[in-house]
Amino acid sequence: MDYGFTQLQTEIAQLARELAEKKLKPLRAKADHDEKLPMEVVEEYRASNLFGLWLPEQYGGTGGGVTDLALAIEELSKACGGLALPIATSALGGMPAFMWATAEQREKWIPALASGEKLFAFALTEAEAGSDATALKTTAVLEGDHYVVNGSKHFISTGEVADVYTVAVTTNPKRGARGITLLLIEKGTPGFTFGKKEEKLGIRANTTYELVFQDCKVPVANRLGGEGMGLLAVQETFDYSRPGVAAQALGIAEGALNETIPYLRTRKQFGQPVSSFQAIQHKLADLATKVEAGRALVYSLTLAMDKDYLKAVENALASGASVHDELKKLKTRRWTKESAMSKLFCSDTAMEVASECINLCGGIAYMRDFPVEKYMRDAKITQIYEGTNHIQRNEIAAALIKEYAAG
Ligand SMILES: Cc1cc2nc3c(=O)[nH]c(=O)nc-3n(C[C@H](O)[C@H](O)[C@H](O)COP(=O)(O)OP(=O)(O)OC[C@H]3O[C@@H](n4cnc5c(N)ncnc54)[C@H](O)[C@@H]3O)c2cc1C
Repeated sequence: MDYGFTQLQTEIAQLARELAEKKLKPLRAKADHDEKLPMEVVEEYRASNLFGLWLPEQYGGTGGGVTDLALAIEELSKACGGLALPIATSALGGMPAFMWATAEQREKWIPALASGEKLFAFALTEAEAGSDATALKTTAVLEGDHYVVNGSKHFISTGEVADVYTVAVTTNPKRGARGITLLLIEKGTPGFTFGKKEEKLGIRANTTYELVFQDCKVPVANRLGGEGMGLLAVQETFDYSRPGVAAQALGIAEGALNETIPYLRTRKQFGQPVSSFQAIQHKLADLATKVEAGRALVYSLTLAMDKDYLKAVENALASGASVHDELKKLKTRRWTKESAMSKLFCSDTAMEVASECINLCGGIAYMRDFPVEKYMRDAKITQIYEGTNHIQRNEIAAALIKEYAAG
């Protein structure tokens, strides 16, 4: 389907598709087995300027928005949902850093984010604060020109590999959700270490780590927005980042179909290709229809949200204000409902497609030699991170009921 992408967006998708075929596919099985991110993949992304797709040219990006980012994530995920992640997690950690930064902070942090010289990551979740992020306990106490941070985060994607962590802390535990603040904390800062490395079901090519902070001194200049603005920054970030998870899910679903359909054409039983059985054909038709519906949802959303985003970025560069403040001035709408819908629908679709592809191929697809089982393992996470699908449903329902209450 043609969603009206620009020439540049079409070229980004093509570039990512080629990279996925030529560079990711040969590496994915070993990276999955070793549970290690091969740094040559990050080098490829840097060389192809994929870290700066959603950032302005002024800082070394390519001047696009969420659509450009989603297209790249989708194409890379067709080969491997785990190897695609550094692009997505650096954007997730980088979005609050870019959107809430002052002009001075942008100058300091964004060129390295855009070039991929520094990978960003996002650290919200704690052992006792998952779906309820407001229960977080990592504290930051102001002492002169720095905060002293104590606590830990767990399940942090691209952990240990990433260079800069956007960390949610509480600067005022008594205020609960209103005490949450975001700080940028660099790898190598004294008092910041990595704890447990997780062993996972899927996206094993991406490292998942615990972060530990013990009397870690972080300059006040690394704070994003004011104290207590962290939860709003996180919520706004999810509006823009969840379509990226949806795109990852779509890529995984399409990748599973891309491995399955050629096999079904060549595999013969009862003297004919398995693809000639109508039961198989109807299942393929249903799965492909859901994937296309997911694409329509994701890209109609990203193309709409990019209009406001790109305008706010342009205004922020001219005024020196933050992108968040410029979005506010534009009186733009929040995309929480549609963003949650895109992640909910596409992640459930990815899980269904990958699982059904195993059914369609039969026993071979249960084996590690055949790439389809990995798609099912990788698909699962898209239903969990950046808010489980229960939480997406909660958010969709809350928005819906509010709309009806407003009349
Ligand atoms: C591989 C991986 C990578 C991750 N990467 C990151 C990362 O980079 N940064 C980061 O900050 N976090 C990351 N996470 C954390 C992830 O976002 C959380 O795991 C997720 O938000 C769910 O939190 P939880 O695991 O604590 O589950 P819980 O919150 O303990 O949920 C348990 C169950 O209860 C359900 N539930 C909870 N509350 C409600 C409710 N109100 N209504 C209905 N059902 C509810 C949940 O849906 C789930 O089924 C990652 C997780 C994984 C597994």
